[in-house]
Amino acid sequence: MTPSTTNTAAREVVQALRDLLRHVEVNTCTHEETHRGGAIWTICDSCDRKWADDRGGFVPHEDAPEVVAARAALESFTLTQQQGGEQEAGEAASG
Ligand SMILES: [Zn+2]
Repeated sequence: MTPSTTNTAAREVVQALRDLLRHVEVNTCTHEETHRGGAIWTICDSCDRKWADDRGGFVPHEDAPEVVAARAALESFTLTQQQGGEQEAGEAASG
């Protein structure tokens, strides 16, 4: 139960979250290149997803709220770590 154990665990969580976000990014198509197909379709060059004009047409990629939240949490945690380098673990000696 030492502070360094907690720090190591926190670092592992941060690293895991970073890897997870990267994994999501790598596996997420942002539909940057599209082409027209037929009369009403917009088709993504990368993932072949289709949007019909009569159903609202092409929708640009947006990150899922969960991804945005995870990214924000990671960022604020990283900032906290950088700012407060204090290591005050409440030492309570009881016998
Ligand atoms: Zn796509």
